[in-house]
Amino acid sequence: MDATLPAFRHQKFVTHPAIQLTYAILLSKQFIKCFQLIKQKKMSAADIIVGITSGIFITDLCSGIFHIITDITSDDKDKEKSIAGNHHVDTLNYNDMKLSDMIFAGTATSIVNLAPLQLLNDTKIKSTKLDVIILTGYLLSTAVMWSHTQSHKRNHFDADDIHPFVAWLQDKHLLLHPSEHRPHHSNNHNSDFGLLNNWSAPLLNVFSRKFVKAMPLTKEEEWLRTKYCTDRKDKMKQTSSSSQKSPSSSFWKKMTSACC
Ligand SMILES: [Zn+2]
Ligand SMILES: [Zn+2]
Repeated sequence: MDATLPAFRHQKFVTHPAIQLTYAILLSKQFIKCFQLIKQKKMSAADIIVGITSGIFITDLCSGIFHIITDITSDDKDKEKSIAGNHHVDTLNYNDMKLSDMIFAGTATSIVNLAPLQLLNDTKIKSTKLDVIILTGYLLSTAVMWSHTQSHKRNHFDADDIHPFVAWLQDKHLLLHPSEHRPHHSNNHNSDFGLLNNWSAPLLNVFSRKFVKAMPLTKEEEWLRTKYCTDRKDKMKQTSSSSQKSPSSSFWKKMTSACC
């Protein structure tokens, strides 16, 4: 696989030390605030559970809104014009994006995504649940792009490329499951935009199916749907029928259902 990958259009901006320092300060401040609220017994277990669950949903919702914006402002014919090097055109290369780039993109976008909630909570609402939601959002935003690539890896690459624990998290729908993300690439890109785990789909799909313009599949997406997945199914058949049992053969079998 080619290691020279399409760079983020705004890579210099998101990796700028001032942006990352701002993120570190906001995260530390929120972490200390939550820690003190727990210590002072002002935050209950219910606050934490509700806050984390809502935080996961809001992080996915933000990733979905961000994804809609990147898709409708990108140009499938010119990947340089897209924010993420055009994932629809370069689906396979996108999977090789550097982990640090994926994390930095998440930290930078979380500053913007969570700013309204942070401001509202600091000045008006002052809710302990919202404090947990914001902290969860800051932490999980770093995993959004990685979760998306893990979903594609399970669909398009070898079993060794994905850790069984990650596959387990996907099966529990805590991370983006391939079957949850596939409709985005095979149904003309106007549904299923959530990138963390697609929990936001029931809400976001109502909006996106109505207002986001359907875009035809790219050549690479067509190819992935047909040849690549057919080849992989053949490979899996060979692996499972082999007398020398592969340690991951059961995993391969499980992954068959995840293919296109
Ligand atoms: Zn898309
Ligand atoms: Zn995708």
